[in-house]
Order: sequence, then structure tokens, then C-alpha cells
Amino acid sequence: MQKSLRGRVVDDDCLFCQIIAKKRDAETVYEDETIVAFKDRYPHAPVHLLIVPKKHIRSINDLAPEDKDTVAWMFMKAPEIARLMSVDRSGYKLLINVERGAGQVVFHLHLHLTGGWR
Ligand code: 5GP
Ligand code: ZN
Repeated sequence: MQKSLRGRVVDDDCLFCQIIAKKRDAETVYEDETIVAFKDRYPHAPVHLLIVPKKHIRSINDLAPEDKDTVAWMFMKAPEIARLMSVDRSGYKLLINVERGAGQVVFHLHLHLTGGWR
């Protein structure tokens, strides 16, 4: 169920909200007031992170005008997060799956950052 926690929208049943609330383990590599970046549990690349807003947003299809800065921040911080993983110069991909037909299985907005290929 969705609720507001310290002014932030959260969903108790959501896997990523549980990781953000530290009720569930994840290997976090970056965190600030707006986003968290942690390692994907089933990586598709040598480096595979998920950049996730702390606000529960179901998908790109559910963005509200007030989410503009949050989405911008996810992308603005990606180079720094890539640098933390030493893939900023070798190269990385940024990807968002939108809805089931495109492979979205976790319905809390997230940006995949993959890299580290030889
Ligand atoms: P989607 O397919 O929704 O775009 O991406 C969801 C991602 O979450 C998948 O790449 C999947 O491997 C990852 N994932 C699923 N469950 C967990 C989990 O419990 N912990 C972490 N760190 N990643 C997960
Ligand atoms: Zn959530």
C-alpha cells in the first residue's frame, strides 16, 4: 500500500522500497537524498547497477510533473556512479524497461547501468 514517509511516497509491498528502507539487503554503491544505486542481484553485465529514485514511482508511464528533477538527477548522477565502478571511460549503457512487454518486472522506476565488458 502506498503511503508517505517523511514526505516521500513509499509502497510497503515494493521490493525496491524495501531496499531503500534497508529492510532488505542490497550492495549499495551510491546514495543521496533523492536516489540510491545498488548492484543488480542477477547481473547481465560485469558491472550492472540499478539507479533508483527514493520516491516510489511505478514506471516512466506514471511520471508526474513534479518528478522532473528526480528523473533528471538519475541521469545527471549516472556518470559519477559509472566513475565509482571504473566504467566511465571504458563505456556503459543506460536503459529503462517500460512495462511488462519491454521486460519491466519491478514496478518501481529504475535506470539500469551496465558496463565493464572487455
Ligand atoms: P526490470 O526488468 O524491472 O527492468 O529490472 C529489475 C531488475 O531488478 C532485474 O535486472 C533484476 O535482476 C533485479 N532484481 C530483482 N530482484 C532483485 C533483488 O532482490 N535485489 C537486487 N539487487 N536486484 C534485484
Ligand atoms: Zn517502490
